[in-house]
Amino acid sequence: MKTLTVSVVTPDGPVLEDAYEMVSCKAESGELGILPGHIPMVAPLTISSIRLKQEGSSERIAVSGGFLEVRPDQVTILAQSAEKPSDIDIDRARRAKERAEQRMANKQSDIDFRRAELALKRAINRLDVKNNNF
Ligand code: ATP
Repeated sequence: MKTLTVSVVTPDGPVLEDAYEMVSCKAESGELGILPGHIPMVAPLTISSIRLKQEGSSERIAVSGGFLEVRPDQVTILAQSAEKPSDIDIDRARRAKERAEQRMANKQSDIDFRRAELALKRAINRLDVKNNNF
């Protein structure tokens, strides 16, 4: 089976580098499924999960924004943050979700609302990846 080298990098450093058969992710333009030999491209990512398939098993990484760079034998994900399920602190994500919901309920400025909305998305995304909720 052909594979792609996938690297996930954040400002805090590398999160993962390994060979996979397929990478699925959610770009701003929609869902992308990347197989070895894909044409080169760059796409902005949403707050979402990356699915990495390897020999029948698959794993997920929670990412919050950033870019995907595809080359025929390599995928690089440069994300603001990226966590494997085992690195996700569920209580922290629950607290972040509650905080964001409260901020959205006491709506102040549009900018604050938008920031709370993004924080809520990050928290829900982390909870989904931790609970394998797809
Ligand atoms: P919080 O309000 O809890 O800080 P946040 O969404 O604002 O959440 P980010 O700014 O996206 O946090 O991330 C800051 C750093 O903290 C990143 O390194 C990210 O990986 C890490 N991080 C954030 N939330 C969690 C979590 N629930 N579990 C593990 N790491 C987390």
